Amino acid sequence: MDLTTGPERLTLKLRAVIRFFFPWALCLLQPLFASSIHPEVLLGWQVTVRSKVTLTRISTEGAPRLPSWEAHGNRQEISWPVVDQQSGTLLERKLKTLLKEVLHKSNKYLSEEYRGNFKIWVFKNVPYTAKTLEDAIIVSAAPVLQPLEHKARKQLSCILAHELHHVAVGPQFFQIDPLRPRQILLTSLLTEGAASRICVGDHSFPEFETVLKNEKALSAAFQDVRNILRQPPDHEGMAQLYTRSKSGYYVGCWMIMQIENRFGRSAWLSLLDEAPELATIKFFDLYAKTNPPALYQLSLQ
Ligand SMILES: [Zn+2]
Repeated sequence: MDLTTGPERLTLKLRAVIRFFFPWALCLLQPLFASSIHPEVLLGWQVTVRSKVTLTRISTEGAPRLPSWEAHGNRQEISWPVVDQQSGTLLERKLKTLLKEVLHKSNKYLSEEYRGNFKIWVFKNVPYTAKTLEDAIIVSAAPVLQPLEHKARKQLSCILAHELHHVAVGPQFFQIDPLRPRQILLTSLLTEGAASRICVGDHSFPEFETVLKNEKALSAAFQDVRNILRQPPDHEGMAQLYTRSKSGYYVGCWMIMQIENRFGRSAWLSLLDEAPELATIKFFDLYAKTNPPALYQLSLQ
């Protein structure tokens, strides 16, 4: 695709890419993938969030090798922009503007305002919009660099807010022993549910919100999660819930929203300050106390 002659087509395609790869990341599952892919890193920043957001360019030599995350659906071909000095400056400016609105979104879903440091690495040829990898957010160059129409930009901002939420929640939630896949799955219902909650209600991803309102679709998602929990825990089952289907995101988000509706947002926000195992137990306990209908029941047993 010619970037200079088809900007509208490109915007449409970028929008499709963003929508297609929602909801985002296998953030908790990243240690499970042994092999790595080698997309090209373009730029990196150390981001410091205090009273203001500061971006400091860092050498791409420190960029991580990326796990071969499974894409959410089929990869879509796209013409990737060439990043030169000028577009590097443009990327930095756009990221800074985006981060300010992203922080505004994420902070409402954190127990206290985020103050911290993380890295942003911009890659090309990664089959997703953004993902979290330890203390870094991996971002795909194209959606950030190209002009996006209003809805696609809103979606990009939501995706980054989701990833920033993961970074802000803390490394303890993302360093569970990969040999404990069941614990990873249960904890991910909490962390993915919480991060996905950020964009519910703003109509950025109507497809996601439609599932939450549709009894048939949502009960099928719960059944997916129950089926996986009944099986001997393995990584394949979890990948199923967070890639090929998105049931883990739907169920986690629904559980968070029921707790919020019944006990207030602070009830689940406080869980994010706990150790992962205890947080998970309390999360399921709080959810049970909302008296969900049989179709939406889920227990740790
Ligand atoms: Zn996530």
